[in-house]
Amino acid sequence: MNEKRPQNAMPTMTGKRDYYEILEVTKSASKDEISASYRRLAIKFHPDKNPGDDEAVQRFKECAEAFEVLSDDNKRARYDRYGHSGVEGGTQFHDVNDIFSAFADIFSGSGFGDIFGGGRGRGVSRGRHVSCDVTIDLLEAASGVKKSIRIKRHKECGTCNGTGAEPGSKVESCSYCGGHGQVISQQGIFRMQTTCPQCHGEGQTIHDPCGDCRGAGYVRSKVEREIHIPAGVDNGSRLRLSGEGEPSPNGGPAGDCYVDITVRPHPLFEREGPHLICRLPLTYPQAALGATLEVPTLDGPEELEIPAGTQAGEVFRLKQRGMPDLRGGRPGDLHVLVQIDVPKKLSTKQEELLRELAELDHTEVTPHRKSFFEKLKDYFAPEEEAAEAENANDKPTGGKRKKTSRRDAS
Ligand SMILES: [Zn+2]
Ligand SMILES: [Zn+2]
Repeated sequence: MNEKRPQNAMPTMTGKRDYYEILEVTKSASKDEISASYRRLAIKFHPDKNPGDDEAVQRFKECAEAFEVLSDDNKRARYDRYGHSGVEGGTQFHDVNDIFSAFADIFSGSGFGDIFGGGRGRGVSRGRHVSCDVTIDLLEAASGVKKSIRIKRHKECGTCNGTGAEPGSKVESCSYCGGHGQVISQQGIFRMQTTCPQCHGEGQTIHDPCGDCRGAGYVRSKVEREIHIPAGVDNGSRLRLSGEGEPSPNGGPAGDCYVDITVRPHPLFEREGPHLICRLPLTYPQAALGATLEVPTLDGPEELEIPAGTQAGEVFRLKQRGMPDLRGGRPGDLHVLVQIDVPKKLSTKQEELLRELAELDHTEVTPHRKSFFEKLKDYFAPEEEAAEAENANDKPTGGKRKKTSRRDAS
């Protein structure tokens, strides 16, 4: 994006990126668009998802700063007018945790609320994150649903209660560190504390390791959990179950489990973001004369009046009958897309009437002779598809014709 700003707009904070660019929205973006984009980016650059990636943290902070300005009408107006200098002194986020508290409301109440915050331990390491998949159908995505999922992760060994020692066996304090797990060494004026090289921080020596976990203290497990999938999720949505990941190796908080959601395609509804599209086949008479028809909606069939003279490709929009909004905003619409169904087979009477209509309209149509062959073929090869395939090549040329004759003769 190349925004034109007054020359003196950025005298002090040169090098700062454009807020709209940071949030990947256009200058005319609505508040909803800005929030949605911020949410998406915040999830993408979330420090928990990018451990050790300083650039992600930087982007995360940058997004928060941009959002802080663009989500506020006054600040946004000043920024639009004067650029960065118009909103100088605005919040600069130094600590990632500040961002959670500053924008708690945008992330809460959405079912995605617990993507952020909670359990950020210090000094001890956190368990690894795990993920699992769940597939739901479109109606479940529309209403929200409770699903049972299986999380594969380790859990404390029940035999040794996580100690790693065979029950009843002797566990000795580490002689090297005296059971502290840490050793302190002095180098000149520096005192350094490091993890004990003998017990690797455990503080104890196990002589007889637990047979069930081979001394690890934890075993592989599959944990079943019932989760609530909020209404409005889409294919590729991700939920976070806080603390349902791997246990911490040293008493810190457990990791999280990310649940990746797949939404099965529906036979009647196509999804386009919040909107649903349903194709409605009409016969030529229905389209020409009008009709009242039942169309499927998420809440069951509903009558829809098709006015006379409806064209193929016309769309009837049923407002707010699409997918619900994940954050409780306005639902999408249901678009009923008209298609004109041309019959593949006609009764004698239907054909007669259509020919009459064509005559009335002075429209040229293929002469009647052709359907005689069609009937003949139907007689010998009653399979619809076969008859139609032949029919399409019913000109007296080439091998196809030969095939037809052969069939006629058999
Ligand atoms: Zn064990
Ligand atoms: Zn030790």
